[in-house]
Amino acid sequence: MQPGLENMTVIGNELALRWTDQLESYFPFEFLRKRCPCALCAGEKDILGNVYGGTVKLGRQAFS
Ligand SMILES: [Zn+2]
Repeated sequence: MQPGLENMTVIGNELALRWTDQLESYFPFEFLRKRCPCALCAGEKDILGNVYGGTVKLGRQAFS
């Protein structure tokens, strides 16, 4: 059985997750921001394979 999410909080510049198996995970905001899968950040393809979006430029404030 996969552990569930027990708690999450922000500590400094990281998102801290505690799982029901008592392990903890820490993800820096920059790590998460650069991996955003939304259409604006990652782009999306139409049925013909044309890609739209994915051209967002991230400034320093995106990581703080
Ligand atoms: Zn995004």
